[in-house]
Amino acid sequence: MTRLSHRIRTVPASPTFAIKAKAQSLAAAGHTIVDLSAGEPDFLPPIGASEAAIAAVRSGAHRYAPVAGMPALREAVAAMYRDQHGLRVSASQVLVTHGGKQALYNLCQTLLDPGDEAVVLTPAWVSYLPQIELAGGVPVCVPCDPAAGFQPDPERVAAAMTERTRFVLLNSPANPTGAVIDPERLAAIDAAAKRVGAVVISDELYRAITFESEAICHPTLDDPALERTVIVDAVSKTWAMTGWRVGFMLGPKDLIDAAAKLQGHCTSGVCRINEAAALAALTGPQDFLAPVVAGLRDRRDALVRGLAGIDGITLDVVPSGAFYLFPRVDELFGRRTPNGAVLTTGEDVAAALLELGGVATVPGEGFGEGRCVRMSYATSLSQINDAVTRLAEAVAQLKG
Ligand code: PLP
Repeated sequence: MTRLSHRIRTVPASPTFAIKAKAQSLAAAGHTIVDLSAGEPDFLPPIGASEAAIAAVRSGAHRYAPVAGMPALREAVAAMYRDQHGLRVSASQVLVTHGGKQALYNLCQTLLDPGDEAVVLTPAWVSYLPQIELAGGVPVCVPCDPAAGFQPDPERVAAAMTERTRFVLLNSPANPTGAVIDPERLAAIDAAAKRVGAVVISDELYRAITFESEAICHPTLDDPALERTVIVDAVSKTWAMTGWRVGFMLGPKDLIDAAAKLQGHCTSGVCRINEAAALAALTGPQDFLAPVVAGLRDRRDALVRGLAGIDGITLDVVPSGAFYLFPRVDELFGRRTPNGAVLTTGEDVAAALLELGGVATVPGEGFGEGRCVRMSYATSLSQINDAVTRLAEAVAQLKG
């Protein structure tokens, strides 16, 4: 056996990739699976992005890209935030990364020394805690209540901050809850972070996907020049380019330079072809988005309506962003599957929904809330309707 580092032995694998693999292997074995596990949009990227990539290949974009990103893309990202949100940000404050995930990884490695603390609101995206731990940091979790629509309690968040807090991580709209955090709460958390000198990392990958209430661009609250706030964003969700692996972060120049130094030792710059595609996506027509968001709202409503008819799957508050629902399934705890297994965790429930109903969901444990499962509605209405029927049939098979 290879002797692996303590670091990698103790970090959990990504549960979202694990459930996807399980659903795919069931499908390959001939089962019909309705996949509500995917954390990616089902619509196509803007056509201009694909054309720009082809043009980049034809024009010979085969060499290493600059580590911090192609100058044109860095400038386009800065311009987008200047124009749309009024931030006072220059291209030198932008780092192009391999997806939003690597921006967050870079930030953990760049900001945390062993034992330093990072405040995370839970339920939280599956990689926040592992990334903090891989950097030797200590995640300090502040749970958000399902009954309150997963809105954070700013006083609890402030109480979790100490002089060891290096950053607080915010995500609105959130994965997995879909919650759009109220601006007043964000402002209170921001003020608390400022008091202890902690950086605010605002993961804004879903900012453009909101329904009833808009999500704010965090630094517009009190830091338009990005002196202590970092935005993490990517073309993955809004532009439906998950596989292209282009993300970006905007923040204080010294932090961006430090993260670029790290990137120079691990991944180098993002592929020029993909950066060309991302540039075209950001600077091309944006009118594709409004119908996409309207379509997602219809799908959310269909899934919400469907779940309302299923006893044991409870959505306390309808979320108004991203493309996920995170209903509670704890009322199913204690019930038995037809072969006698007693459900006691979110993982048990997700496994039962997959086995009895052929519906793939992601258990809440990986997000820090085992009473829930995550359902993605970034799939067709017919799939959603099918999922609802199957979920009802699966739950009806549970006894006790
Ligand atoms: N942050 C959140 C909240 C996410 O949901 C995801 C992906 O699901 C990421 C970051 C990572 O994004 P990317 O696919 O661009 O690496």
